[in-house]
Amino acid sequence: MKIKFVGVGEAFDESHANTCLFIEDASLLVDCGAFAVQRIWKEDIHNKINTIFISHFHADHTFGLPVLLLRYREEKREASLTILGAKGIEKYVRDITELAYPNNIDKLGFELIFKEINSDSSLNIESTTLSFAKAEHIDSSFAIRIEKDSKSIVYSGDTGYCAGIVELAKDTDILVHEAYTSQKDKEAKELQKHSSFLSCALCAANCACKSLALVHISRNSGNPDAIKEEIRLAYKGTLLIPKEGDDFEV
Ligand SMILES: [Zn+2]
Ligand SMILES: [Zn+2]
Repeated sequence: MKIKFVGVGEAFDESHANTCLFIEDASLLVDCGAFAVQRIWKEDIHNKINTIFISHFHADHTFGLPVLLLRYREEKREASLTILGAKGIEKYVRDITELAYPNNIDKLGFELIFKEINSDSSLNIESTTLSFAKAEHIDSSFAIRIEKDSKSIVYSGDTGYCAGIVELAKDTDILVHEAYTSQKDKEAKELQKHSSFLSCALCAANCACKSLALVHISRNSGNPDAIKEEIRLAYKGTLLIPKEGDDFEV
């Protein structure tokens, strides 16, 4: 399986698009923030997406959806599109799309299918199996595991340290984890609902993932060497800090 890092940024980063992944084997887009949509066309993956997983209802993970849907309408998309997310996903997507472009969501010209997921859900998408765990961020937050032929990819979404994600990510080939800030900064700002590099490294060490990719890094985090140093306090496996457009094969 291959992951494309469509975007790797946090909410307000002037240098990176919002964190957004594409898993070709599942025709699956993972998150669709306000600043990710341009990158979806730039990477020429827009016609390969059949399903979108929304990790939680925050703008840097969702506000690209109204733009994506309307551009699909303009380009006369015919294939149905399935959107996965927490309880209330359909109302949430309808509400933000209605605010952005009133009276359009029912005139898209293709079928929109919504599926609510929870920690017990298991879905077969194309040749892959998807499973989920509740994340420690907001009520609608879930992490996802994508599996095919004994290979797997896990994406945490935004989260603090989370035992459920450790369980979901057990022995995975790659854990793509949000790594918002340094442990020192996290303590100073009392950030409970995001991960420090250290808490991310502990999650990676405890789930024994083969590789760890850091995304959603704060724009103020400084140099990558300091980030790597903090990760290496707890995690010794392969470490990636991907850039937009990078691919990784498991
Ligand atoms: Zn968030
Ligand atoms: Zn976020």
